[in-house]
Amino acid sequence: MNEIKKIPSWDLSDLYDSIKSEKISIELEEIDNEIIFFNKKYKDKLLLLSLDKLYISILEYEKIKEKIEKIYSFVDLITSENLLDIEVSNKGHYLREKLDKYSANIMFFTLEINKLTSSTIIEISKIENISRYIEWINNIRSMKKFQLKEDLEKLLIEKKSTGKNSWIRLFDETIASIFVTVDSEKYSLDRALDLMSSSSKRELRKQFGLSLSNEFNKKEDLLAFILNTIVKDKEIEDRWRGFTNVDSSRHISNFIEPEIVDSLFTSVKEFYPRISHRYYNLKRELLGFEKLNFWDRNAPLNFAEDTKWKWKDAKEFVLSAFFDFSPKLGEIANLFFQNEWIDALPRKGKTSGAFSHQTIPKLHPYILMNFYGRNNDVMTLAHELGHGVHQVLASEQGLLLSDTPLILAETASVFGEQLVFQSLLKSCSSINEKKQILSNKIEEMINTVIRQISFYDFEKRIHNRRRESELNKSEINELWLKTQKESLGDAFELGPEYRNYWCYVSHFFHSPFYVYSYAFGDSLVNSLFKVYQNNFEDFESKYLDLLKAGGSKNYKDLIRVFNLDASNQDFWYKGLEVIENLIDELVNIDVEA
Ligand SMILES: [Zn+2]
Repeated sequence: MNEIKKIPSWDLSDLYDSIKSEKISIELEEIDNEIIFFNKKYKDKLLLLSLDKLYISILEYEKIKEKIEKIYSFVDLITSENLLDIEVSNKGHYLREKLDKYSANIMFFTLEINKLTSSTIIEISKIENISRYIEWINNIRSMKKFQLKEDLEKLLIEKKSTGKNSWIRLFDETIASIFVTVDSEKYSLDRALDLMSSSSKRELRKQFGLSLSNEFNKKEDLLAFILNTIVKDKEIEDRWRGFTNVDSSRHISNFIEPEIVDSLFTSVKEFYPRISHRYYNLKRELLGFEKLNFWDRNAPLNFAEDTKWKWKDAKEFVLSAFFDFSPKLGEIANLFFQNEWIDALPRKGKTSGAFSHQTIPKLHPYILMNFYGRNNDVMTLAHELGHGVHQVLASEQGLLLSDTPLILAETASVFGEQLVFQSLLKSCSSINEKKQILSNKIEEMINTVIRQISFYDFEKRIHNRRRESELNKSEINELWLKTQKESLGDAFELGPEYRNYWCYVSHFFHSPFYVYSYAFGDSLVNSLFKVYQNNFEDFESKYLDLLKAGGSKNYKDLIRVFNLDASNQDFWYKGLEVIENLIDELVNIDVEA
């Protein structure tokens, strides 16, 4: 059998046999009937229920949600491998619409939960069965303070389609219309950005960099106007809801206190010189350039050729890193290989991304990725298996409580990558190979931690400035260059061509202030990994408990077990030092050798 045939694809029949399965129609009808019954029983009555009955209603709600999620999951999965199949796409669309309608029909339940009085909540937290759901209830209620009258909420939802969402759509369509021509060949924005980063020819990277800037220039006025409008729209809604700072609503929806994000923000900025400035100076020397330009930021260092992995070896390598850390973790990861829960075979019509879909707690997750045998693919396998194992462990909590808080959502995946990265380093057969793996990891961490914080910095300045008046495009450009220069350091000489590179960052338009979550998640795992490396007592079992908890506890309680406290600046320093130590290691390789 040739190598490609040994790469697995998944077996979705644990969900359904096909998108046309009779079973789906039967289950849809069941859901429909159950929702009618559920509405009759509980709509407008939740506040009158005894706590025992309220508990039963939550169980019934969870059951219906689980049935809905099961079909949603199947549609997601089957679509992701059949993007070119019209029949799958039509049927999937039809099913999603039906499921959306069902979901809307039971939404009253969480709205009424929101109306429970504070004294009822205190009582709930004292009663054995129902108190299990307290974290879920608290999460639903976290926005309560900022909710407007029902009519106003309805108006805001309806106006969204002609307001914010239209502007986002205009952004998406504007960005999708950008193409660049290099050497008489036409490239999409994504492809051009990729080649600007990954080409080993500097001249070519530069060409892409300049052509992109040129194209952004043509749309700059429009994109500046869209950004101004979206930022103002947010300011109006924030003011009505009573959010004080520009990023308050994001913190509330992330369930994080503002002081903690501030602590992350200042710590990372403090580390700019020790991490990004230092690393890019090293990179500048290694590449032999006088100064780096923005198209050199991700330029390949080419210490060594990428290793070519067979699926079987990748699987064994990742599994053994997991087993070495924890036999229990290894065993769960192994289930994914034994049971056809992974789809790694690249093929036409399959999505290019990677994910681990948790489906529903009663079943098991499915992993999708595309395995081409590169080092990167081995890391992706480790990442997704980390998610997968987490989802299996958290499934004991049931549907409503299995979802991990956003800030911890990447814990198991990044931790899994760390385990595999450490074994990769140990297994290197040459110094150059080691340098390659180290520099890749450092750059990835800089992109996640340092760069995202510089984005957050940019957004804060834009949103605060917008509270005074509209910004013209040169003000936006100036703030962009300022925040980027600060984070990249003096190894770079950034000319006016870089001024408009904020134009394509979709987070600024789609989900303001989301960017810091990446830095938060990665830094948190780095701190946790440092604790592990320092031989913390019972680390393994405590770590497994953290994964098992899913969304049943908040992140503060979960990390306290490791003596970690995110409000303390030391916590962030610990994580940032992990990146700094990797740079030390890279610098010292030649000295040691
Ligand atoms: Zn992930």
